[in-house]
Amino acid sequence: MALNNRLDIMADIIKSHVDSTPSIRHILHADLDAFYAAVEQLDNPELRGKPVLVGGSPENRGVVATASYEARVFGVHSAMPMKSAVRRCPQGIIVRPRFGRYKEISNMIMDIFRSVTDLIEPLSMDEAYLDITQAVAGGLRPLEVALDLKKQVKEETGLTVSVGVATNKTVAKICSDLNKPDGLVVVAPGEEEAFLAPLAVGKISGIGPKTVERLNRDGVETIGDMAAQPLEWFANTFGVRAEGVRARALGTDRDEVHTHRETKSVSAETTFSSDRNDPEVLREELARLAGNVARHLENSGLQGRTVTVKARLADFTTFTRQKTLPARTATEETILEHAWGLLSKELNPERSFRLLGVGVSSFLESTALPAAKADQLQLSLFDQPAFDQPVFDQPLFDQPVSEQPDPGQETT
Ligand SMILES: [Mg+2]
Repeated sequence: MALNNRLDIMADIIKSHVDSTPSIRHILHADLDAFYAAVEQLDNPELRGKPVLVGGSPENRGVVATASYEARVFGVHSAMPMKSAVRRCPQGIIVRPRFGRYKEISNMIMDIFRSVTDLIEPLSMDEAYLDITQAVAGGLRPLEVALDLKKQVKEETGLTVSVGVATNKTVAKICSDLNKPDGLVVVAPGEEEAFLAPLAVGKISGIGPKTVERLNRDGVETIGDMAAQPLEWFANTFGVRAEGVRARALGTDRDEVHTHRETKSVSAETTFSSDRNDPEVLREELARLAGNVARHLENSGLQGRTVTVKARLADFTTFTRQKTLPARTATEETILEHAWGLLSKELNPERSFRLLGVGVSSFLESTALPAAKADQLQLSLFDQPAFDQPVFDQPLFDQPVSEQPDPGQETT
């Protein structure tokens, strides 16, 4: 073979290799530290340095929304019933949440994030992914971007933020959590797999406590243990999720920063201070929740076709019932009518309710879609009950988190 030919072939191989190597992205995950509690301590100097428990009252079966770091040393954490929190930390100062104030500060924080890059994906009021690839291409090192962001948040809001930077979302998110509070961890390109290997499998988002238990029983304890498994094992263990989970374990996932997070549902729920079974009382509560949802839909210019009712019984059995309406709606009366239609079928004198919720979803203009596609959308919404994705930036809930996770539900 002529030398020229051989060089051509070599060049082709190199070129195809370069083309198939995706360009490196730089992703920053920023997460404020003990956000609600930190805002309370910021606004009220008397709370600084003290164990603060933001949440509902212990008498009304409230839960901890956020505990300050001073309270966390007593073993208090979010989503814990306030009663248990007070038992562990009797000197804890209970503060009712002020969502309006948190939202105000959240807006300031998101503006700071947006001054770094347009490519931001908020995950909650105090947490977002930022794609900083452009800034890095412009000559800044990822560490400089991160330090600058932390400084800006501190100067403009008085709060501390923990930051992780890596070439993908999974690693960035794990990093930001590693040295909280006021943490900063950067994983250099190429170091992802080695960084992840010694960490517990539960650090990977989407691997909940139940899966962790199952994996540990199989001898898979670290992310490294998992990454070493053959492809077949992933397929058997995770089914359709296999590829995504494997990529995350290897530190190679390519999930993009999604800037437009679609609102999928609007919902409101409430936990009663004591269990209720009087139909009149339940209907009244449903009306109040329907009113909240309707007001929110109206403010957002949304109309939905699916009405969902969520209920939790005295024994913690939790279920949802859904109905698809002939036309989209945002009115309180229509939402209530259908929600009540769903709930009234579930009533009997033996059944006491501890929680009620109302949600509206299916916001897509279904007439713009072929019939088959609209059906699929309905189905996928049924697969994912509205309440799995509460609207993050408009907390409609009387209590930000339910008292106990739904049975079988995995936290991410
Ligand atoms: Mg946070």
